[in-house]
Amino acid sequence: MPAPPQNPVITRVSDRVWFAESPLVNWAAVRTPRGVVLVDAGYADQAEHALHTAGIASDGAEQPKLVAVLVTHGHTDHIGGIVDVVRQHPDIAVLAAPEEVASVRGPEREQITIQRMGANLLRPKFVSWLRQGVRAGGLRPTAIPTARAWTDAELESYGIRAHRAPGHTIGSTSYEVLGDNVLLTGDAFVTNHLSYRRPAVGAIADLFSADPATAAATAATIPRTFTILPGHGPALAASHPTS
Ligand SMILES: [Zn+2]
Repeated sequence: MPAPPQNPVITRVSDRVWFAESPLVNWAAVRTPRGVVLVDAGYADQAEHALHTAGIASDGAEQPKLVAVLVTHGHTDHIGGIVDVVRQHPDIAVLAAPEEVASVRGPEREQITIQRMGANLLRPKFVSWLRQGVRAGGLRPTAIPTARAWTDAELESYGIRAHRAPGHTIGSTSYEVLGDNVLLTGDAFVTNHLSYRRPAVGAIADLFSADPATAAATAATIPRTFTILPGHGPALAASHPTS
């Protein structure tokens, strides 16, 4: 039996946002005027943890029902858990940027290949990351046929705004929780990664991205005046200019 993925640490970071940080990958739950929304749902075997996060966010909320999952990008470490979430909540919306929908629906998607892993396979931390990702269901075929594109107006009804963040994938998106000064960046901006020797803040390591140059340019434009909740690594407090 594979060991279950380690429990995430769930932190309330603002009025409406609960951040779940697990060693492998992060996600969040947002209390919205229409109900609770998850942003990503971790690996396939982390679905229960994602639902638990949504449950915490719904406790005491006016609209406690889980109504949607917003997808930052269609990689299995962020969308694998959505399969079981949808199985248990068939009526929820699964929403992604128009350019990202095909990848979320799957089962084919653009993601790191054995060829691109190359020499990294000699690095102990990289191999450890790979093994843990596989154990969390990272190789299981992931298909979410009900995924569809959001519109800006639809997101607005949740009190959320999309910031296009291409490079990691073509349709990578950061989500701003309006009024809470929180930005969920997915892998457009990370603060660490289980495969890293030491933490690094900014664009994720080049080998993970479809277009590393664009990913680097995108990461450089992420406003640091938000509390940043990245796809990997700890939250980053908003920096307030002193002048
Ligand atoms: Zn990721």
